[in-house]
Amino acid sequence: MDYTQIYPFPALVGQEELKLALLLALINPAIGGVLIEGPYGVGKTTAVRALLDLMPLVERPVCRRGCLPDEPDALCSDCRERVSRNEALLTSEPMRLIELPLNARLEDVVGGVNERVALEQRRVLLEPGALAVANGNVLYIDEVNLLEPAVVDAILDAAAQGRTFVRRGAMVRLYPSRFILIGSMNPEEGRLRPQILDRFGLRVWTAPLAAGAERLEATRRVRAYKTDPAAFRLRYAAAISGLAEAIRGAREVLPLVQPTHNAELLAVDVVGALNIPSHRTEIVLLEAARAHAALLGRVDADVEDVHRIAPLVLRQRGSVAIAVEARRVAEEDAAIRQVLEAALSSV
Ligand SMILES: [Zn+2]
Repeated sequence: MDYTQIYPFPALVGQEELKLALLLALINPAIGGVLIEGPYGVGKTTAVRALLDLMPLVERPVCRRGCLPDEPDALCSDCRERVSRNEALLTSEPMRLIELPLNARLEDVVGGVNERVALEQRRVLLEPGALAVANGNVLYIDEVNLLEPAVVDAILDAAAQGRTFVRRGAMVRLYPSRFILIGSMNPEEGRLRPQILDRFGLRVWTAPLAAGAERLEATRRVRAYKTDPAAFRLRYAAAISGLAEAIRGAREVLPLVQPTHNAELLAVDVVGALNIPSHRTEIVLLEAARAHAALLGRVDADVEDVHRIAPLVLRQRGSVAIAVEARRVAEEDAAIRQVLEAALSSV
């Protein structure tokens, strides 16, 4: 990879919420990723790609089917050969950023038949799609609101089940598919379906920087970077490695981090008071609070962690349609009870 292509994450001016959300998503995949909304040209994609400098090392199966050394009976034929050659089934490498192109077709996403092999060798070779390649990685979808509905459904399926199928006739292949989902969109281009919105743990609004000092500084940095990317990156080298180290440390401490009783109460209270229907909300709130505590090196996720990350989790969770429907059902139930009681008193 050509690292000079990556704008340094610590050089991003402002957008503190966006930066925090991206770091938390890397620290704790259970948060369910980040949705970034905002107008064009505010650095959404630049910020996501800047994560490439910060990617933690993860241990992952060499095999795309996800064969694991502690499940020797379930190994595929390739992996049995690997074992016989004394090759490792796991490898340690930085998480990757898999970008789904805007014009992605369903077979690019779920996989399909390798057309070259089919033509040249007259045999069917099933190939994994982006959802399988994204396993253990970050899946980034720019303009997520413009994806074809069938592609969105495939992503939702994989996110819910943690695996994806490639099918052709009687041939079926199963691939593990657990990924950190990051989406970005410009709401001027259209809204996101509620099902996929619900899948994003954190929701960030990236407003353009206010005119003045911040905006001027951002322009200067971009100009300096474009003039000499390598020299510009060198200026931020220490900050980048410090941040990468903070993420590594936070991921290590995360399994020990527990929410306090007060943090749990606060989470349930605010979700209830805001009338948010999805039960995923409390779970995400506490997972994000755990990641925030881990980033600060604490093993107690307390009320201040919930307080800090709550706006990121709670945005766009309320539903007017659900509230209207709930009121309608309540009114209907009241009418049913009234009729029942009247009927009962006359028998
Ligand atoms: Zn295998």
